[in-house]
Amino acid sequence: MIFGGTFDPPHLAHTTLPPIVAKMLGCELILYIPASINPLKTQTPPTPSVHRLSMLRLAIASIPNALIDELELHREGPSFTIDTLEALQNKYGPETKLHLLIGADAALSFEKWKDWQRILEMVEPIVMPRPPYDHATLIREFNSLFKPEQAAYWIAHIAEVPYLDVSASDIRQMLINGQDLSQFLLPEVAHYLKANELYQMTH
Ligand code: ATP
Repeated sequence: MIFGGTFDPPHLAHTTLPPIVAKMLGCELILYIPASINPLKTQTPPTPSVHRLSMLRLAIASIPNALIDELELHREGPSFTIDTLEALQNKYGPETKLHLLIGADAALSFEKWKDWQRILEMVEPIVMPRPPYDHATLIREFNSLFKPEQAAYWIAHIAEVPYLDVSASDIRQMLINGQDLSQFLLPEVAHYLKANELYQMTH
């Protein structure tokens, strides 16, 4: 199962939800793929990848079947998922079934992704509800934004996972405000970002 993101910083939704979904789908491996530059988030450059990678390593250390693949960090330019999937399909072979785990926000804007139709031919997506889209709201959104056949497709790919009100952007803002983040970040990640003085100014 492929789980891409900026992980800026990695938070509890990133660490608790993918193992639940992997178990539900019977996926052997969870591949965390940190993006170099998210093509849809180019206005706000992320924290240097060396820090995001270090935090992600700490965050997933205790997930037995999780690995980080750094392929997007080693590629020039924006990180397009289609390029990543082609590389991974080559690496793992055509007989390996790939699942692509994404949050509700990503699913609702999926048609902005480069070659999104080809992506759906290569992988089976699985969508996690996240604020402001709980399960019922997400079904309504798919029905109102997409054509009936496509809405039905996405609705059939919603995962039953806990609804966690956490996002990296909220965390960055809370850090600037000096708020307590212990319920959203693993202690190791909280320690790392403090020790490295990350997120002290808006970036
Ligand atoms: P930001 O707030 O900066 O947009 P983020 O919290 O969405 O960041 P990403 O690293 O971009 O973090 O997320 C990676 C993936 O995890 C995306 O598919 C995103 O939709 C999903 N995700 C993030 N937070 C949650 C959450 N609370 N519940 C479910 N999925 C989530």
